[in-house]
Amino acid sequence: MKSGFTAIVGKPNVGKSTLLNRLIGTKVSIVSDKRQTTRNRINAIANLPDAQVIFIDTPGIHKPHHGLGKRMVQAARTAMEEVDLILFVTDATSPARDDDRTVASYIRDLGTPAWLVINKKDLVDEETLAVSERACRALGEFDRVKILSAETGENLEGFIGEIADAMPEGPMYYPPDMVVDRPEEFFIAELIREKLLELTREEVPHSIAVVVEEMIPREDRDIVDVSATVYVDRESQKGIVIGAGGSVLKEAGARARLEAERLLGSQINLKTWVKVRRGWRDDEAILDRLGYSE
Ligand code: GDP
Ligand code: MG
Repeated sequence: MKSGFTAIVGKPNVGKSTLLNRLIGTKVSIVSDKRQTTRNRINAIANLPDAQVIFIDTPGIHKPHHGLGKRMVQAARTAMEEVDLILFVTDATSPARDDDRTVASYIRDLGTPAWLVINKKDLVDEETLAVSERACRALGEFDRVKILSAETGENLEGFIGEIADAMPEGPMYYPPDMVVDRPEEFFIAELIREKLLELTREEVPHSIAVVVEEMIPREDRDIVDVSATVYVDRESQKGIVIGAGGSVLKEAGARARLEAERLLGSQINLKTWVKVRRGWRDDEAILDRLGYSE
């Protein structure tokens, strides 16, 4: 039996969560085209016949501007310290930049085995890819280099097996039927946030936090009553999140409900409220409540 921990790290938006979902084969982490979509570290478990790999999806490493950002970067750094392998994800469409170099320097300091994963192969021609590859390889010493597309699945066959082979001998850390180590409330809140990210623009996405307050299964029917609160930073954002006649919140709720029902395997009655909490991203108590570990 082989088992171990693999952290997926990199700057924001390179496709870390998309890659994780691919490797696990199911959506465990929300994805969007907005930076800093992933805020908490998420452990997802890949169970193979004779191996268990625990993947840690991390928030992108960036220069933090508020308390939330600091906790996000800290979560990524802590994750890197405890693992057997690091997958350092870069983006073939954007040349290696300072934020890539920052991640690379963390990896170098740790001395943990690291593989370079150059993602979004589907978006570039061969020439651009060659330039990106050279720049990315120059970021450090890597035990392996993979060029793939997390979106299309190109060059992903067998990757999970290679990762499992790189794990040390060890026990099963989680029961074999477990896929994620966060409660259902967390995923439903994340799904609502993902849908709001799809439906809102500019500064609003970064100002949204979602908490599932209650999940109560009905006794007589196969329905779960879920109530969630969406926190925003300012009154003006409240209007945007609710939308004209409640349209945005309603649409986000409907999309989230569909996916959440698949996740829970039962019908959901979802109620959402929007509340203004000025400066919540610097409010330690709210950050604790949202599960952002320090
Ligand atoms: P993260 O911030 O690193 O976790 O990035 P996400 O997984 O949230 O992805 C950021 C954006 O890039 C999303 O819009 C994804 O759909 C997109 N994306 C991720 N991987 C690929 C890829 O291989 N090809 C293409 N075309 N898009 C990708
Ligand atoms: Mg992510």
